[in-house]
Amino acid sequence: MRPEILYSLFSPATTLKGVGPKVAPLVEKLAGPLVRDLAFLAPQGLVKRPLTAIADAAEGQVQTVVGVVEAHTPPPRPSLPWRMRLFDGSAFITLTWFKGHGPHLARQHPVGERRAASGKVERFGAELQMAHPDYLLPVERIDEIPQDEAIYPATAGLAPRTVRKLVAEAVARAPELPEWLDEAWRAREGLPGWRAALEALHAPKSDADLGPEHPARRRLAYDELLAHQLAMAQRKASRRAQPAVRVPGGPTAAALEAALPFRLTGAQSRALSEVRGDLQSGERMSRLLQGDVGAGKTVVAMLAMADAADAGLQSVLMAPTEILARQHYETVVGPLEAQGVRCLLLTGRDKGAARAEKLRALAGGEVAVAIGTHALFQDDVVFKALALAVIDEQHRFGVNERSRLQDKGPSTHLLAMSATPIPRTLELTMFGDLDVSRIDEKPPGRKPVATRAVPAPRIGEVVGRLSEALKGGAQAFWICPLVAESETVDLAAAEGRAEDLRRALGPRVGLVHGRMAPAEKDAVMAGFADGEIALLVATTVVEVGVNVPNASIMVIEQAERFGLAQLHQLRGRVGRGVRESSCVLLYDPPLSAAGEARLDILRKTEDGFVIAEKDLELRGGGDPLGLKQSGFPAYRLVDPVAHRGLIATAADDARLILARDPGLTSPRGQAVRLLQQLFDWRPGGPLTDAG
Ligand code: ADP
Ligand code: MG
Repeated sequence: MRPEILYSLFSPATTLKGVGPKVAPLVEKLAGPLVRDLAFLAPQGLVKRPLTAIADAAEGQVQTVVGVVEAHTPPPRPSLPWRMRLFDGSAFITLTWFKGHGPHLARQHPVGERRAASGKVERFGAELQMAHPDYLLPVERIDEIPQDEAIYPATAGLAPRTVRKLVAEAVARAPELPEWLDEAWRAREGLPGWRAALEALHAPKSDADLGPEHPARRRLAYDELLAHQLAMAQRKASRRAQPAVRVPGGPTAAALEAALPFRLTGAQSRALSEVRGDLQSGERMSRLLQGDVGAGKTVVAMLAMADAADAGLQSVLMAPTEILARQHYETVVGPLEAQGVRCLLLTGRDKGAARAEKLRALAGGEVAVAIGTHALFQDDVVFKALALAVIDEQHRFGVNERSRLQDKGPSTHLLAMSATPIPRTLELTMFGDLDVSRIDEKPPGRKPVATRAVPAPRIGEVVGRLSEALKGGAQAFWICPLVAESETVDLAAAEGRAEDLRRALGPRVGLVHGRMAPAEKDAVMAGFADGEIALLVATTVVEVGVNVPNASIMVIEQAERFGLAQLHQLRGRVGRGVRESSCVLLYDPPLSAAGEARLDILRKTEDGFVIAEKDLELRGGGDPLGLKQSGFPAYRLVDPVAHRGLIATAADDARLILARDPGLTSPRGQAVRLLQQLFDWRPGGPLTDAG
């Protein structure tokens, strides 16, 4: 139930003056359907309207002038503007209007009257002009022309002035609300109260007032973060309250571990014991296993699945592509079956009787571990006792898919795995409702990948060295970026490059791209994995996580166009085998200073978490890591980079508030509820990923 105090903000935007059936959809597109959404629409810029003598008016600038109406000149032809001449003793300016408001203008602004006009001043030959002034008023009303005016994001069909008016009206309807922030902290940080912050947000006086560091902006961003962190913390708590089957673990995992050709790293052991803690807790696990490419997540998942099998329970391991699923299957089937744990692989290729047989084995409980693709989501895939769902490359799956998989067992434990290292602060905003284990250590003995930045004109040398390496039995990736607006153009570029390389290096050059049918793509990837293809030319679709240990060279064209995280991921595909590995970052010179700094980071470190932090620092603003696609929350006022310090504070604050007052019944608790309703992070958004 929404409290009455918020009614005015939560009434539809159509209750604002001037929002009829024609304007409403435009407002909705710009801000949202509610008065609240307009109140939270952050201005992007500022217009100043200095009062200027006409003779001093600067071209191309918005200014206010005052003068006497000297003449009206109707257009000689309809395609020409109506003209009105204003004189202030220093010079003339001509105000112009197209599309016949003329006679009306002449009546409203008769010759001889003094008028104030405000708008952008331009010069045509000797003549100063102001086309369609933003304001034209009798001089007595000059105060109605604002000196500083906020500029909002534009949307076709809505005049900036209309948006400004609607926002002002929306803000005027905002009530005073009780303070939900800790007063001592707010005072220390110098943050205004909520309503004052909202007003200040819309009344910038200088460019600094528009920046993320302005106290009003920080205050509102913090509110948004706090509301969000509270929602995630509550979601986490409510999930914890759901009972789930206890998986005590048994001898199989220990036997498997003993049989591994390597010892678990400290980070792997830590992650495994965190997973086991969840499995044994009687509460439902929702854990994200974060670890760089090659960190060794699969074995952690395998050991957890072995624990489930020991308890007579089933597990699934799901991968985003057929080839990855098959790789996982091949990795785990030997060790698991040697311990008497039966496994099967289920993908879209399974059809007819063979598929039916697999489904029977799962429904009957004879098979403990199922590995596969989306095929595991099908409704007719039924388990006897599913206890654990492992999702590899979790960002490749939609929310619904994940919950559908979890729904196949009563309170199935979820282990999501991700090879996209993200900074801690962003981890809080993206996965604040999950428990996170980090594998921040690579298995020993990995050779560093020698990384070099090479200007594109030296591509010939790169191809020459590549040719030598391939003759020596090495395999390589060649990545063509998606640069053109059109996929067709990019595809043509990649095809052209593959052709060039085939001419230079011989026929064992394969091409894989996003337009290929999945089966076709899998076939090429399999050819590369088998070694039939020596050089794989790819657009950025190179399957995340594909393990081809013999591949030791990664060439990335136009590397300056990729995000750091993406470059790091691409590079992670080499350096897995016995060969010395290298990564060549081809760039189009000249490289900007920022571009150089970015490529430099890659040369200096291979730690994905360090790279992610640096990337965040370097980018500043916008959508630093392409986060929007990966489920980053759609904040209204938070800048994930500038406000990153606030994120951790909000997470702590949320935890503390809920620990002290879980029911939010204290006076502050009640104010906090208002905050939550104000921002309205509904369940079902991108953050319910792990269900
Ligand atoms: P990712 O985290 O990218 O999924 P994988 O699980 O595919 O990584 O592991 C990459 C490779 O590292 C595999 O060949 C795996 O056998 C190997 N590996 C995993 N853990 C260790 C370890 N502790 N020591 C040595 N090699 C390991
Ligand atoms: Mg993997």
